[in-house]
Amino acid sequence: MMEYLYIKSDKERGVEATFKWLSDELQELKEALNNKNQAALEREFADVIAWLVSLANITNVDLEKVALEKYNHKCPKCQQAPCTCEFIKIKPNGPVQHL
Ligand SMILES: [Zn+2]
Repeated sequence: MMEYLYIKSDKERGVEATFKWLSDELQELKEALNNKNQAALEREFADVIAWLVSLANITNVDLEKVALEKYNHKCPKCQQAPCTCEFIKIKPNGPVQHL
């Protein structure tokens, strides 16, 4: 979807300027982490993902493909796809963890 919507403007901006946007967003993510502001943190994660995808698109990198290949298309713990690990939630809105 990002490619469909933004490839023309991303290509016009170019790799160097797009990388600069990604770097700026990473800095803003760092600030949000330091400020412990959950709403700002969520916005900055979304911004980082968006600029990372834009950069991947204009450098002909299929981000989904390389991300799946990084983990050999399966869970690194149970070696299954989809993952068959059992998870628990420590807190109601907290992260899930392997048992
Ligand atoms: Zn698993």
